[in-house]
Amino acid sequence: MKIGLKKKDWVLIIIIVCVAGLTVLVHTFIGGKGANRVVVKIEGAIQDTYSLSEEGDYEINGGTNILQIRNGKASMVEADCPDQLCVHQKPVSLNRESIICLPNKVVVEVETGTSREFDAVTQ
Ligand SMILES: [Zn+2]
Repeated sequence: MKIGLKKKDWVLIIIIVCVAGLTVLVHTFIGGKGANRVVVKIEGAIQDTYSLSEEGDYEINGGTNILQIRNGKASMVEADCPDQLCVHQKPVSLNRESIICLPNKVVVEVETGTSREFDAVTQ
């Protein structure tokens, strides 16, 4: 009977792992197509997430900064900050690359989706 109990335990563990995995997948797909995405933070709090595979211009922080996504890269094309450092930063596309606008406390950071790692585990 001990073996039976252990099997039940394993089933429980597998269910928990599956639910956790699904949650990760759902989060990944809400942010885009599971590919790279950019996370927009204002004063350290996440405001928006955009997929790098979808081109577009996005107002950040109520329009103080304009983020543009083109060809899988994100760049700051407009900002009302006095230094304009963020506008002059190079477009970002790799994991952990970021554009920072200090005066407006805006951070745009690239995050690589976790779906690829998850696929590797299930295959
Ligand atoms: Zn700036």
